[in-house]
Amino acid sequence: MRTPLIAGNWKMNGSLALVDSFARAFAERGIPATVEAALMLPAPYLYAARQAFAELPVALGGQTLYHQTSGAFTGEVSASMLGDCGARYVLVGHSERRELFGEDDAEVLARVKAALAAELTPVLCVGETLEERDAGRTEAVVLGQLAAVFDALAADERSRVVVAYEPVWAIGTGRTATPEQAQQVHAALRAHLATYDPTLAEGLRLLYGGSMKAANAAELLAQPDIDGGLVGGASLQVDDFLAICQSA
Ligand code: PGA
Repeated sequence: MRTPLIAGNWKMNGSLALVDSFARAFAERGIPATVEAALMLPAPYLYAARQAFAELPVALGGQTLYHQTSGAFTGEVSASMLGDCGARYVLVGHSERRELFGEDDAEVLARVKAALAAELTPVLCVGETLEERDAGRTEAVVLGQLAAVFDALAADERSRVVVAYEPVWAIGTGRTATPEQAQQVHAALRAHLATYDPTLAEGLRLLYGGSMKAANAAELLAQPDIDGGLVGGASLQVDDFLAICQSA
């Protein structure tokens, strides 16, 4: 059985005060034991969150990393630095990174490898634009993004990745993929994973992301191949985040 993972992605939002208020709310209200909860925080808040969440069943993650381990790369953060500050996860290949910061498939692969080498779990994000969907290219695009990484990994590395399907047209738009649309892509992703190894496909967690909120989480998470959510906007309100955890 795949334990559902509900991962909040704060993006470039939040504050130390918000970290503390989440920690208080989680401590008071608890997190359902049936899910794994995680928060992908801006890097400067990770260390404080590690301390605030020390007694809480909430994993932490970074939102990006650089592929080099150290050196003259002003402004960049390495995988081991994220790990030092309490991260277990790191997002790689989020569509905002691909679009706004020019991260291509080769860079995404290098970052996934760097994350794995530092014992972090990369959450590899894939997804099509509206133009690509309208052109009937959804599966070609997402399977291409998946293969660009998975073809180059060793078998033991593949099993340590989480994949998030995030249709670009659903991110931050309030326009969620229908459960059927999301399930169809998730099934295609899992079928592709089975071409490497059926056991890998059975065990790997596939998250859905894109305007997931309390009102639509249950029906998305009820789909057989949706094993959790990557939640942007709704992860900034602790009530919404906890409600999504409860519906998993
Ligand atoms: P959203 O963002 O939930 O605000 O659509 C999801 C994401 O970008 O991870």
